[in-house]
Amino acid sequence: MFLENKANRDKHSGWIEVITGGMFSGKTEELIRRLKRARIAGQKVEVFKPHIDIRYHESDVVSHNETSIGAVTIHSSERLLLLSSNVDVVGIDEAQFFDKELPRVCQQLANQGVRVIAAGLDMDYKGMPFGSIPQLMSIAEYVTKVHAICIRCGDLASFSHRLTANNNLIVLGEKSTYEPLCRKCFNSVKNENNLK
Ligand code: ZN
Repeated sequence: MFLENKANRDKHSGWIEVITGGMFSGKTEELIRRLKRARIAGQKVEVFKPHIDIRYHESDVVSHNETSIGAVTIHSSERLLLLSSNVDVVGIDEAQFFDKELPRVCQQLANQGVRVIAAGLDMDYKGMPFGSIPQLMSIAEYVTKVHAICIRCGDLASFSHRLTANNNLIVLGEKSTYEPLCRKCFNSVKNENNLK
């Protein structure tokens, strides 16, 4: 479990945390846990999500197990800078869906003293790195990879296999659309489907 780093912390130094992994791995749940703890600590917290994700609730960040926190929906990462003045902690959900400016924006916020916590998918349904998450992981001080459970064999799952034949990169996640798989099961499904 991630514990907040207190070493030599002062009010003017920010940093970046990334919570990443496949579908159903508990990324959003972990994001909400950290944000709620920051609020308990009396810090000013703002939560953002990209315009695209309307899976459960228009203006909340909601995890698959339905814990939630109020969030502002924005169309571009640049808006984060405008909406984060006097904020101690910025939470970002579904970070993989933001535009490619997100790492620069997170960097700027952290340089201004903000604790930035970004959660998002590390890989798309083909198992390829997703959006700006690789860049974010590089510049982050703390990276947490969380895992789901492979529904075929019970091993730890890192891959999100799409059950429907849709080539769109963005198909929002429900249990009927994706299944979490381990590397071995993902590869054997891929072979079965003749995908590359
Ligand atoms: Zn498996």
